[in-house]
Amino acid sequence: MKINEIFKSIQGETSYAGLPCIFIRITGCNLRCSYCDTTYAFEDGKEMSINSIIESVDTLRSKLVCVTGGEPLFNIETPYLITELINKKHTVMVETNGSCDISIISKEAIKIMDIKCPDSYMTHLMNWKNIEYLSKIDEVKFVLNSRNDYDWAKDIIKKYNLSEITNVLIGTVFGTTYPKNVVKWILEDDLNVRFQLQLHKYIWEPDTRGV
Ligand code: SF4
Repeated sequence: MKINEIFKSIQGETSYAGLPCIFIRITGCNLRCSYCDTTYAFEDGKEMSINSIIESVDTLRSKLVCVTGGEPLFNIETPYLITELINKKHTVMVETNGSCDISIISKEAIKIMDIKCPDSYMTHLMNWKNIEYLSKIDEVKFVLNSRNDYDWAKDIIKKYNLSEITNVLIGTVFGTTYPKNVVKWILEDDLNVRFQLQLHKYIWEPDTRGV
């Protein structure tokens, strides 16, 4: 399978933010979000076997592993990689864009699933059936670019009862919608969600790779 990069850093998002974590970035994505910050993962990478990926992970020494992209589930081998990592006693997070079927991956994997808001221009490609496969160990993530995105996300959270079935994250596109506005709206509406910033973009320069 084609791998863009494997590196160790701290997890910059989710309720695991701040923890040491190994990232496996799989090449390829089926979406083209307006604000994408990982376009370098669309094509670039090198072919690696699952065994050689596991060997690389072993050398980096961390229990927490994040399988990301691009879109990791765009590659048909990813579910096997996830199972292998779990068999090796890793805690595995899978960051997925919400358009691919998540039911094909191990129930033990922690699914971090985007729900693409209107300003991404990718909302029409969401696989809404995925919500049936989410549990309390998983997290859904809304990345907001405007007040319109916020209102849309609020409606979706209510419509699917998301705060009851899983954990809900709300963040903003880096450098756009002011986080303090979004926090204000969340508090005004009493939303049961976790607000997050992309920690790694504050520690390092926002476009730094491999961190
Ligand atoms: S799903 Fe992720 S990697 Fe793919 S285009 Fe959107 S932001 Fe970029």
